[in-house]
Amino acid sequence: MKKIIPINGSFEMMTLPYAVDSLGVISAETLGFHHGKHLKTYVDNLNKMLPGSGLENMSLVDVVCKSSGGLFNNAGQVLNHTMYFEQFGFANHVPSGRMRQMIEKDFGSFDAFKKEFEQKGATLFGSGWVWLSIDADGKLVITQEPNAGNPVTSGLQPLLTFDVWEHAYYLDFQNRRADYLSALWQIVDWLVIERRL
Ligand code: MN
Repeated sequence: MKKIIPINGSFEMMTLPYAVDSLGVISAETLGFHHGKHLKTYVDNLNKMLPGSGLENMSLVDVVCKSSGGLFNNAGQVLNHTMYFEQFGFANHVPSGRMRQMIEKDFGSFDAFKKEFEQKGATLFGSGWVWLSIDADGKLVITQEPNAGNPVTSGLQPLLTFDVWEHAYYLDFQNRRADYLSALWQIVDWLVIERRL
């Protein structure tokens, strides 16, 4: 996972690696609000809460692992959204190489993995995130995290995440969270995921 560090005491807002109207399954309206308003608020709040917290100048993962309350919520949401927005693109929509081998070993097939991932996302009650991570034994695991949760706090290495807060899909899919989850496979760039190994 790429290390995210503060510059002159502040974390910077990540830039989308694609045009706001280019993803198709996520509309420009959703992406504009989600990246431009929701993430911006989390970044601004994180930078307001850092001074005096004792966690200044740490990496974002370290802030997430060592904080609690409002600071944890905002730091977690900055880390989660950065990983979410960075994993989409226009190629490599199926895993290959080492990533494919790991998925087939631990889930049987890519289809079986996608089914379990979507099911865990659809059944997460309220707001949160569904994650694919690697555990300490090198095994892939799918977990649900409520609110701003990130698997790094459980000692896992996160690879892939789908945001299931309603702000991620409501303008495009209304209450149909399962349809949003199944559509996202069309834009996941598995080379980005593989680089997080
Ligand atoms: Mn979100």
